[in-house]
Amino acid sequence: CILCGQGNADKDMNGHKVILHGMNFHAYCMKFSAGIFQQENISEDIFLPDIILAIRKIENTHCFVCGKRGASISCAQAGCDRSFHLPCASEGECVTQYFDTFRSFCREHRPQQEVKAVPAPDTTCIMCMDPVGDCVSYGTMVCPACEHAWFHRACVQEQAMNAGILYFDCPLCRDICFFVGVMRKMGIRIPPRFPTWENEDKFEPEPRSHSRCDASECRYRYGREEAARSG
Ligand SMILES: [Zn+2]
Ligand SMILES: [Zn+2]
Ligand SMILES: [Zn+2]
Ligand SMILES: [Zn+2]
Ligand SMILES: [Zn+2]
Ligand SMILES: [Zn+2]
Repeated sequence: CILCGQGNADKDMNGHKVILHGMNFHAYCMKFSAGIFQQENISEDIFLPDIILAIRKIENTHCFVCGKRGASISCAQAGCDRSFHLPCASEGECVTQYFDTFRSFCREHRPQQEVKAVPAPDTTCIMCMDPVGDCVSYGTMVCPACEHAWFHRACVQEQAMNAGILYFDCPLCRDICFFVGVMRKMGIRIPPRFPTWENEDKFEPEPRSHSRCDASECRYRYGREEAARSG
């Protein structure tokens, strides 16, 4: 990716590969770098000169996490001049919001959960069962609705990737609205798709060559019914 300089970065958080004018980008590296392109929303038909100007602009911008140049994402807090690479976000405890205008925040200015609750001693993550921290932090989060389900950021992110927007909720109180709203704001990416645990085989359409078959003794049809009966 020409923006973050990495080829093998985590696909969940950086997005799929986009090729523009022969250059590779991560889809989300582009989205979060909208500022350097001086556009609110990056479209995939952006002109080559605009890309070149944008990349030249960040040639000497250092990432506050890894120290390398070419940091294309800047903190949305007015007056803050910290920039970073998208794959450096979690190490730098930065928050990247995967919705609306794709705002980003550095460690110091990231939004924090507004809860008074603290976990009881020996509280474990509701998702992985390992201990959580002793208060809300970048890595330790709590359901904003029940304030009883504690979990790690990495665990809730994994849960969001599996569940997708349609099935993402608090594992304890099953709250959806408050939970989804706060998790997105805290930088959890919730993909807008069906959960990955759905058995996709069940929804395979019939092969095209059979879509018009009405033969009563079609072996293919019997085969399917047989398969359905035996589960
Ligand atoms: Zn990238
Ligand atoms: Zn970096
Ligand atoms: Zn900042
Ligand atoms: Zn966990
Ligand atoms: Zn809850
Ligand atoms: Zn047939």
